[in-house]
Amino acid sequence: MEVTQLRCIKCGRTHEPTTDVLTCSDRACGGLLDVEYDYRSIARTVDRDALSASSDRTMWRYGVFLPLGPDSRRPGLQVGGTPLYRTRHLGRALGLDDLWVKDEGLNPTASLKDRASAVAVTRAFEGSFATVACASTGNAASSLAGYAASARLRCVIFVPSRAPEGKVAQLLIFGATVISVEGSYEQTFTLSEKAIEEHGWYNRNAAINPYLIEGKKTVAFELAEQLGWTVPDWVAVSVGDGCTIAGIYKGFRDLVQVGWLDRIPRLLGVQAEGCAPVVRALGTGRLEPADEDTLADSIAVGKPRNPDKAIHAVRASHGTMVTVSDDEIFEAMRLLGRYAGIFGEPAGVTGLAGVRRAFKGGLIASGERIISIMTGNGLKDIASGTRAVAPPARIPPEYEALEGVLRAAGIGRD
Ligand SMILES: *Cc1c(COP(=O)(O)O)cnc(C)c1O
Ligand SMILES: [Zn+2]
Repeated sequence: MEVTQLRCIKCGRTHEPTTDVLTCSDRACGGLLDVEYDYRSIARTVDRDALSASSDRTMWRYGVFLPLGPDSRRPGLQVGGTPLYRTRHLGRALGLDDLWVKDEGLNPTASLKDRASAVAVTRAFEGSFATVACASTGNAASSLAGYAASARLRCVIFVPSRAPEGKVAQLLIFGATVISVEGSYEQTFTLSEKAIEEHGWYNRNAAINPYLIEGKKTVAFELAEQLGWTVPDWVAVSVGDGCTIAGIYKGFRDLVQVGWLDRIPRLLGVQAEGCAPVVRALGTGRLEPADEDTLADSIAVGKPRNPDKAIHAVRASHGTMVTVSDDEIFEAMRLLGRYAGIFGEPAGVTGLAGVRRAFKGGLIASGERIISIMTGNGLKDIASGTRAVAPPARIPPEYEALEGVLRAAGIGRD
């Protein structure tokens, strides 16, 4: 393993990577930690071509960049290796010449969170934990539950009671112990922290556990590799706690560190208007808790746990952030479905909604290469998908009625 140390992002204190400290050991500081590597050693161990020749299509192909022992036990489910599409029709519809979509909804439990959960479960093995736990708006939970099931670990999940049915169904099918908390995500999170501390479970709370960003960063590795080790102009993604965008930044930065890329793309972080504390903090320099007033449940995070790393990612990449309304999110859901055949949940398409907003606002130009990361599958949240569209025509089983409907829809003979 090429990890050298864990560094506190607040006070700079370093920690041995062997321990399972999650936050700064200086109690008064309590800052989040960042995993540091010996990049020279990594660069000596692998090169781009060797990596590209690997037959392993999962994210484990980037194992040398991960905080895991080379021989440690891995969960059974596949993770990563998701497609990157050049979405020409969608691009044309939006006025963008070079738009791509990375479909993270094709991970085993149907969201990008699988990349983090796979690392969490592997680390839980390494630490001989019997139980893993987390609080989540839904996807981190269903993801952890799936990976825990594949690894035969016990799993305790805390979700706010508003979590969409599809995600809760996943949890129950995967056999997790599910605690549905009648409160906000914030309250759910606080409760989980206390329980995890009391019971000594492995903590998969992404914003606190420094190793999870290391899993999420593999999406950036895949992107760079799928683009032939070239750097796009923009990578757009939705922001809740902030770990995903921080992971994307870390991934690109790793590649710059080993000399495989010469720069980091500009990151476009996108939040919903009804819950945009990170966007506000980027402007004012102060994080203030926000209401969780959006249908994009996965990013309805009123008190984000990782704003510092997220804001650093945006600033250091010379990127920016925008907000979008729930209507714009629904519009993005329809556009992505109609022009690309990809069904995203609301938070999954929020990055794309942000691309539209940023283009209209003159922040990005039509000729730039833009990657929108679609973070979660729409089948997880059918209620939102159904809200975004008109209901189907309903007719009696008679040909005449059918003809009427086709005429109204302007569909004639081919
Ligand atoms: C978790 C999640 C996000 C945001 O990730 P953060 O790390 O919370 O910023 C975006 N989209 C989906 C579908 C998610 O599940
Ligand atoms: Zn510290």
